[in-house]
Amino acid sequence: MELRELGRTGLKVSSIGFGASPLGNVFGTVSEEQANASVRLAFQSGINFFDTSPYYGGTLSEKVLGKALKALEAPRSSYVVATKCGRYVDGFDFSAERVTRSVEESLERLQLDYVDILQCHDIEFGSLDQIVNETIPALVKLKEAGKTRLIGITGLPLGIFSYVLDRVPPGTLDVVLSYCHYSVNDSSLGDLIPYLKAKGVGIINASPLSMGLLTHAGPPPWHPASPQLKSACEAAAAHCKEKGKNISKLALQYSLLNKEISSVLVGMKSVEQVEENVAAARELANSGIDEEALSEVEAILKPAKNQSWPSGIQQS
Ligand code: NAD
Repeated sequence: MELRELGRTGLKVSSIGFGASPLGNVFGTVSEEQANASVRLAFQSGINFFDTSPYYGGTLSEKVLGKALKALEAPRSSYVVATKCGRYVDGFDFSAERVTRSVEESLERLQLDYVDILQCHDIEFGSLDQIVNETIPALVKLKEAGKTRLIGITGLPLGIFSYVLDRVPPGTLDVVLSYCHYSVNDSSLGDLIPYLKAKGVGIINASPLSMGLLTHAGPPPWHPASPQLKSACEAAAAHCKEKGKNISKLALQYSLLNKEISSVLVGMKSVEQVEENVAAARELANSGIDEEALSEVEAILKPAKNQSWPSGIQQS
């Protein structure tokens, strides 16, 4: 598995990162055995980056991931763990007091002494000025206290990243995590990459399968995409199936192609998915992407290209 520099952090992360939201049963039930086996195979296959949040499955994802990582009996320095703060099943709280308490709770659930990355989770649901003036300074203190090595922010609307990065001292944030904006149906993150690079932050791209839109099984019932986007993705998946191709493989490979992105986080809930995704990365490295299938899928998705959905509160 290819390792890539995570911005200027000095950390090297696998080009595919293990998205652990499915371990919180977000995409259907996952047994503990299946979760352990998936994490183990991912790690043995060279995936060293694991992403979770207290929000996923109401803390379940952190607990399951923590157990699975412990069962590896691998040196702590051999894997990178990212979690988040500020978003919980019962709502959002980006206050300094809550995020400071949050990391202690996460460390206990993960059975770790420190996390590698602590991110403010979906900041568009809070006041961005509170994020700049209160939450990030609290995360800086947690970094100084050794609770986390790096800090970052996550969210859906791309404008949140420049809003915050333009208002914090240079070098304060180490990483940003964007989702659903660098996949075959929506590559709008691409336009922001030069800015993010100039700011020196590592770029993490999550949801290359657009949270299930680009799969043959289709998205979960809670998926927020419009009916138009859902049906365009369904048509693209059907086209691939008819041609004997796998839309998820193509979609993951598309995201992996951009080497400015340090890691592509894909949600995985079974050994089969880990095997398929690792094989997709290997095949991409050896023989490149299936250009014909890609251009056919891009043509089908064109009417819905870069279509997103509302997220967060109106910022004043
Ligand atoms: P995704 O696009 O990675 O899709 C996940 C879905 O695809 C799941 O249903 C999974 O079972 C399925 N899948 C995975 N591999 C497959 C394969 N080979 N074939 C068929 N289906 C496959 O979406 P995601 O899980 O939402 O995103 C990945 C990770 O990124 C999350 O688990 C989370 O860690 C992170 N993330 C963070 C944020 C945030 O911070 N705001 C938002 C979204 C995602």
